Amino acid sequence: MPNNEEQTKECTRCGQEKPLSGFHKHKSGRLGVRSQCKVCREQHYQENRDRLLARQKQYYQENQDKISAQRKQYYQENQDKISAQRKQYRQENKDKISERDKQYRQENRDKISEQKKQHYQENRDKISERQKQYLQNLPSMIYEIHNTMTKQIYVGQTSYGRRRWSQHKSKLRNGIHKNPQLQKSWNIWGEDAFRFNIVEELPCDLNKEQLLEKEAALMLEHISNGAKLYNENIPE
Ligand SMILES: [Zn+2]
Repeated sequence: MPNNEEQTKECTRCGQEKPLSGFHKHKSGRLGVRSQCKVCREQHYQENRDRLLARQKQYYQENQDKISAQRKQYYQENQDKISAQRKQYRQENKDKISERDKQYRQENRDKISEQKKQHYQENRDKISERQKQYLQNLPSMIYEIHNTMTKQIYVGQTSYGRRRWSQHKSKLRNGIHKNPQLQKSWNIWGEDAFRFNIVEELPCDLNKEQLLEKEAALMLEHISNGAKLYNENIPE
């Protein structure tokens, strides 16, 4: 009784008698393998590659709706699994991904800026509405800018959240901050000497008067503790 390794089958294309390992597995085929050997199938594939690809493409085009519905359903049924897989992949390939993104951006700079421009033009109203919403929903806050070298402090209030720190930095970097003391200090000590510190985060709809009162109270507290402030609008 021959065992599986010694069993052979004749290829219907080249006619050679070959061991079963020379054929691809195929459940409904005789002896559980395909009728044509691996070599013949590969040859057949190479000879018909373009035709096969065209057929696949045609199938995809003719069944686009069905395929995308299947994908959507699969996605919905396996959402957690898929997002966990994606997350893991991103974590394990962080460097590879960021390198690829960087390269893509470099190679497609014009295309990307054209796409952005087009997207903006097509969605102008939606985008400006969203920006308005975004700005309106930023938290109000009382904040400080600390010079960690001299311990001098700038006290401020804003309804623009952390964006306010970006605004300060942009002015300071360009040498056009409206507070000359702070600007001078920034020029001397450099950006790394300064820290942004949120003292109190407040609801976005808090009115300006309440913010100004809180700001004034903080300034007075600092002064009574002997701190030196950059502010020029120090309350009496
Ligand atoms: Zn063959």
